Amino acid sequence: MYRSHTCGELRDSHINTDVVLSGWVHKTRDKGFVVWVDLRDRYGITQLVFDQDRTSAELLENARNLGREFVIQVKGSVIERASKNDKIPTGNIEVLVKELTVLNTSKTPPFTIENDTDGGEDLRMKYRYLDIRRNPVKNNLIFRSKVTMEVRKYLSQQGFIEVETPYLIKSTPEGARDFVVPSRMNEGQFYALPQSPQTFKQLLMVGGMDKYFQIVKCFRDEDLRADRQPEFTQIDCEMAFVEQEDILNVFEGLTRYLLKEINGVEVDTFPRITYDEAMEKYGNDKPDIRFGMEFGELNEVAQHKDFNVFNNAELVVGIAVPGGNAYTRKEIDQLIDWVKRPQVGALGMVYCRCNEDGSYKSSVDKFYDQEDLAKWAKVTGANPGDLICVLSGETHKTRTQLSALRMELAQQLGLRKSNEFAPLWVVDFPLLELDEETGHYHAMHHPFTSPKPGQLELLDSDPAAVRANAYDLVLNGNEIGGGSIRIHDKETQSIMFKHLGFTPEEAKAQFGFLMDAFQYGAPPHGGIAFGLDRLVAILGGQETIRDFIAFPKNNSGRDVMIDAPAPIDNAQLEELHLKLYL
Ligand code: ASP
Repeated sequence: MYRSHTCGELRDSHINTDVVLSGWVHKTRDKGFVVWVDLRDRYGITQLVFDQDRTSAELLENARNLGREFVIQVKGSVIERASKNDKIPTGNIEVLVKELTVLNTSKTPPFTIENDTDGGEDLRMKYRYLDIRRNPVKNNLIFRSKVTMEVRKYLSQQGFIEVETPYLIKSTPEGARDFVVPSRMNEGQFYALPQSPQTFKQLLMVGGMDKYFQIVKCFRDEDLRADRQPEFTQIDCEMAFVEQEDILNVFEGLTRYLLKEINGVEVDTFPRITYDEAMEKYGNDKPDIRFGMEFGELNEVAQHKDFNVFNNAELVVGIAVPGGNAYTRKEIDQLIDWVKRPQVGALGMVYCRCNEDGSYKSSVDKFYDQEDLAKWAKVTGANPGDLICVLSGETHKTRTQLSALRMELAQQLGLRKSNEFAPLWVVDFPLLELDEETGHYHAMHHPFTSPKPGQLELLDSDPAAVRANAYDLVLNGNEIGGGSIRIHDKETQSIMFKHLGFTPEEAKAQFGFLMDAFQYGAPPHGGIAFGLDRLVAILGGQETIRDFIAFPKNNSGRDVMIDAPAPIDNAQLEELHLKLYL
């Protein structure tokens, strides 16, 4: 028996019992006549004591020679500590060691195994197995496990069946590039790893499994913007015989359940706003509604004077920054520089101070009088003491820029509180999105998403106006889930493919299996997928998904611990019938 108890378990009530513990040497303190060792495992830390009055000289010497992270087993008895430590649950006791076995030695770890370690990110990733011994990482993994357990519990209770779908498949269009896997047995042919199990879950609906879920890896070969992973986990779900309303209710239920069970937070019915409203009010289809600062469109009250910057703009739009009148001139200039950074891309920013006495002072006083500015304040909801920040230009770009500013200011003002949760549904997404570069439309969600009833005809005349039965669940400024009601008949699906630029032959080659299935009694169906990594990070009150993934990849998609990706040798290339052109 390696252990009778864990290192987090012993309390006053165990005093005078004999115990066996195993774990890692966290720290040793040598006072000459007595040596203390902090023994650590997943559950906590227990203090061991070796002293010259009560243990043999040999045992004391052996304790003295223990290095950090040695794996040891001790037998001894629990005694009351002379000086108690109320910071840890085992702080009232210590174990007087009678027998010590070194189960394994350890090289000195490259960084300290402490909550605040001296190891930088790269080093910690290279030795991730040591990083996982640290409380913050360990606790995140335990937290993640708890969330997934609760997800399974809720969905099972609702009658969902967990079904696994294959990883070696062919392309699923979720808008990224595929990772491909060469097939040794099928010369010159490749599998693609799923960007999501989308088509399979739809086929499960045709198969009659009317409530499916799966906690599943998805693979997308995209440029890794901040905090994305090439492989990530989804809670993937699909239901048959449902309308949008049914799906929203079930998954609002799941989210509410998680917030309650995991965070102890009760939330009301989630607000629902349309995509168009989200863009108008927040410049963003995943708005953070923990705070206000809603957009006020100022075209009507700012395009009547000689200020051509505004007059020539498609949109003039502002936000009121609470308490922003307290900013110094220098601070406002910094904000202006911030919006002019290439990442944001605004040409400039107009501002208006709302003084406590009800008067206004703007950067464009030459053009606008107090009466004009009072209207700006009204439209943006600014109160005395606030600062109005105004951007102008092409509608979509300007909204995106102001949204970036809104988020930055909220961050600076401490309005994005990690223990506050503000979920909402964004509904009625456009079906199609114009790719500026190619001039072609592509599916905003994916090609299996159904248009709103009666809008199919619009596809020819005004494709951008077609709205979809598609929805996103947004939490604290993050899209944590997205889905749609699907097309379930061959004809509509063919029309969609045609509008997405597929020839009938291409559509058949890529998705013939799905179109075939639709001819054998496909039920109406729809679903959603949650990004589990992000959801867990948000529920855990943290920012980076990497911190909740046991073995994440870095920003270049590399696993620096196992050093992947890596070249393969010629024999393996030959076996796969591959030749490299490098
Ligand atoms: N497959 C979709 C995605 O990965 C989710 C869905 O439509 O259910 O975003």
